[in-house]
Amino acid sequence: MSGSAATGSGVSPRPRRTTRSRRAIAEAIARLERSFSARELHDLLCAQGSSVGLTTVYRTLALLSAEGRVREAGLRDGEMLYNGCTVSGHHHHLVCERCGTVEESSVCRCDELGLELGESHGFVLSHGVETYYGLCAVCAGLEDR
Ligand SMILES: [Zn+2]
Ligand SMILES: [Zn+2]
Ligand SMILES: [Zn+2]
Repeated sequence: MSGSAATGSGVSPRPRRTTRSRRAIAEAIARLERSFSARELHDLLCAQGSSVGLTTVYRTLALLSAEGRVREAGLRDGEMLYNGCTVSGHHHHLVCERCGTVEESSVCRCDELGLELGESHGFVLSHGVETYYGLCAVCAGLEDR
């Protein structure tokens, strides 16, 4: 087309980049049903043709975590794992240690636990365990055979 040798005056500063990558990250997380590391999430985004940087993934995960939309699911090989959180309010996560599947559960004994700890120890519980680790039904079933 017009072959003007650009003098470099009009370089656009890529506005809204953060919002776009944040949405891409949130959508990728919503499709993941198992825990993932920032690196795995980044690989997934790259495979989908997204150009989100690993640093942005880390930063966005920290933001989403602070907002309660992502929950930390422990360490694997020194890397923090995360999983998406779709339920608001107090609830628990059941993380399978074998396949990484995460189930959100409203099964909760925190009130009873708090009462009992108060009675036995005079301890006032403010923050209990929100993530449980074990084997999902599929993995537990396979192990029997
Ligand atoms: Zn959750
Ligand atoms: Zn499993
Ligand atoms: Zn609870």
